[in-house]
Parts: sequence; C-alpha cells; structure tokens
Amino acid sequence: MIRLQNIEKVYRTDTIQTLALNSINLDIEKGEFLSIMGPSGCGKSTLLNIMGLLDMPSKGSINIDSQVTDNFSDKQLAAFRNKKLGFIFQSYHLINDLQVLDNVELPLLYRDTTAKERKQLATEALEKVGLSNRIKHFPTQLSGGQRQRVAIARAIVGRPEIILADEPTGNLDSAMGNEIMDILLQLNRDEGTTIVMVTHDEHMAKKTHRLVRLFDGSQVQ
Ligand code: ADP
Ligand code: ADP
Repeated sequence: MIRLQNIEKVYRTDTIQTLALNSINLDIEKGEFLSIMGPSGCGKSTLLNIMGLLDMPSKGSINIDSQVTDNFSDKQLAAFRNKKLGFIFQSYHLINDLQVLDNVELPLLYRDTTAKERKQLATEALEKVGLSNRIKHFPTQLSGGQRQRVAIARAIVGRPEIILADEPTGNLDSAMGNEIMDILLQLNRDEGTTIVMVTHDEHMAKKTHRLVRLFDGSQVQ
C-alpha cells in the first residue's frame, strides 16, 4: 500500500545540515497497522510527513496504492492526499471556532459533494467514534479524548484507505488513550484501513501488527 525506497531527508539551514532520514526502505501492506517508535528527534514525524506527502524527501521514491508520486505537482499531491489519506495529530488540530460537525465536514469541501451529503457523511463519521451527541459543541467544550475523536471522524469522513497518526494518544491520560487506540484498532479490523502510527507508548505499539524503530534517522528494527 505504501512503499518507500531509499528515502533520505536532509534539512538545511544557513549553518546546519541535519540528516533526518537515512536510506529508509519500508513496505506497508494494505490493511496493516504499523507503529513507529524511537527517541525524540530520530525522524519519526519527518517519516510520517513524507509518507503523507506533506513533505518531500531529498532522495528516494514513494509509491502509494501503486502510484509513484515522486513527480506529482503540488496540485496533484493535494488531490491525492485528500482522496487517499487521513491525518491525526497529537494536538488534534481542530478549528476552535467551528462546531464539531463543521470541523468533520472540512475535508469534504475539497470534493464534489452537496451540503446535504457532507452533513450526512460527517454525522456517520461522528457516530463511528461515539460522538453523535456532540455535533453542535465547539472543540473547546470537549475533553481531550473527545477532541481526538472529532479529529478521527474528520480523518475518516472521506473514507481514506490510509490513516497516518502522529502520537494520537500523546496528550491523553491512559484511559482516554486506550479509547482512542480501540477506535483505531476497530477501524483497521472492520474497514481494513491501513494505519501508520507514531507513538512513544510501547503498550500501544504492542497492539499493532508491526513495529519499526528509528534511531538517528535510520531504521534499526
Ligand atoms: P521526531 O519526530 O522523531 O521527534 P523529527 O522528524 O521531528 O523527529 O526530526 C528529525 C530531525 O530533523 C531532528 O534532528 C530535527 O531537529 C530535525 N528537523 C525536523 N524538522 C526540521 C526543520 N523543519 N528544519 C530543520 N531541521 C528539522
Ligand atoms: P503534532 O503536530 O504531531 O500534533 P504537536 O503539535 O502536538 O505535534 O507538538 C507539540 C509541540 O511540541 C509543537 O510545538 C512541536 O514543535 C513540539 N515538539 C514536537 N516534537 C518535539 C521534540 N522532539 N522536541 C521538542 N519539541 C517538540
């Protein structure tokens, strides 16, 4: 589903050059739930951003769902991302002055949908994460776990084949973290969604199919 070949990422500033990723080769199967672990600064977010076509590698090739995206234009990348990928972040990245339902509808605005369809799809996504009783709330009126559930609803509303999650339970206590993890496991199991998750939590990583460890930009396991 996702194939990374010889991925290298160098960040350059005036004075410093950082090799953030060094010869990463990774094949992620359709329906796989993969976790990525490693110490702070080892390249986890960079790797996830490259997989999510949010950032370009300095070298190497990316293949997602049998399409090589290396030479896509920015416009093609944006369309491909919107169709194939859903993103979840540690700090939720919700828009605080939009109600829950409107936050969840956002990815659909870039697609050919009517207002009625958007409302229906967003309502269904919120039902899947157990939040259909909060659609008119604002994010600031919700707990962290509830906010992350809204973010998951937003990530799945366009039925992406792949979800990329950057420390989705990092800001949550263990009870809420487990709830979020259960939702992701269920999505993977019941809908066959491929999931790649960065985590610091061994306990969460153990629940996934496979663990990749990074150290200093290289894959060590
Ligand atoms: P992790 O997610 O594992 O904490 P990151 O992928 O965020 O690691 O960062 C990997 C390395 O790349 C770190 O050394 C970090 O300082 C560096 N880095 C990340 N983003 C940038 C950037 N925009 N400019 C320069 N260096 C960066
Ligand atoms: P994400 O975008 O994955 O949700 P956050 O926005 O929650 O990450 O990150 C929270 C803050 O922590 C950000 O301001 C980010 O720059 C900072 N941060 C992330 N990784 C590191 C790191 N390895 N060391 C120091 N600060 C970090």
